Amino acid sequence: MSKRTLPENRSASSRGPATSPPGAAKSRTRRKDLSPAEIAEIFRRFAAENPEPKGELEHTNPFTLLVAVVLSAQATDAGVNKATRALFQKADTPEKMLALGEEQVRDHIKSIGLFRAKAKNVILLSEKLIRDFGSAVPQDRDALETLPGVGRKTANVVMNVAFGAPTMAVDTHVLRVSNRIGLSRGTTPLAVEADLLAKIPRQYGVPAHHWLILHGRYVCKARKPECPRCLIRDICLFPDKLL
Ligand code: SF4
Repeated sequence: MSKRTLPENRSASSRGPATSPPGAAKSRTRRKDLSPAEIAEIFRRFAAENPEPKGELEHTNPFTLLVAVVLSAQATDAGVNKATRALFQKADTPEKMLALGEEQVRDHIKSIGLFRAKAKNVILLSEKLIRDFGSAVPQDRDALETLPGVGRKTANVVMNVAFGAPTMAVDTHVLRVSNRIGLSRGTTPLAVEADLLAKIPRQYGVPAHHWLILHGRYVCKARKPECPRCLIRDICLFPDKLL
């Protein structure tokens, strides 16, 4: 188990008043905060159960990963994969995507929400990659966030999955699970991201966001968390967990 201790400058959000996580009853509050040893044990168990967690968005290179993540906003990974299989067979580089053109990209992704705006962004980001980055997906956050359709969460996913950076992309699953377990009391993705980066032991920095997403998607579900089969139920601080 890791002996790493909590940094002293924990974020303001982690010291703030208790907030009700999505799905939590509002009548009860958390008794305490997780200790560094408990946090280390949570991630030790995730690592033992699934040593090499993978994201579920299909891709073949950093460019197709970037496009898939841009398309995944307000869409399911399964829905994105269904649309991108044919798209990526035709266009797996910025040049090929540009040659395909916005209309054809739109046709491929029309089953996904916001497909018109997303098709436009895919073409614009392909143009920018060719023009400003030698057709390569940049590895740093500032450069990634200059690309059309790319915000902090998308940049975090690309940096983590394509380039192995210890970033924490906070989506609805990560936010809910972090609140329930007691890893963060933050109510915004940015506050939760800061808490998780400060608290999760360094050796789990790269896979941690996959574990939290998968845990939220398949076990700690929004409406009906499956606490009886949860591998961290004895540590979780969710006041309404089912045992
Ligand atoms: S015990 Fe329940 S609420 Fe806590 S992490 Fe597990 S599934 Fe979620």
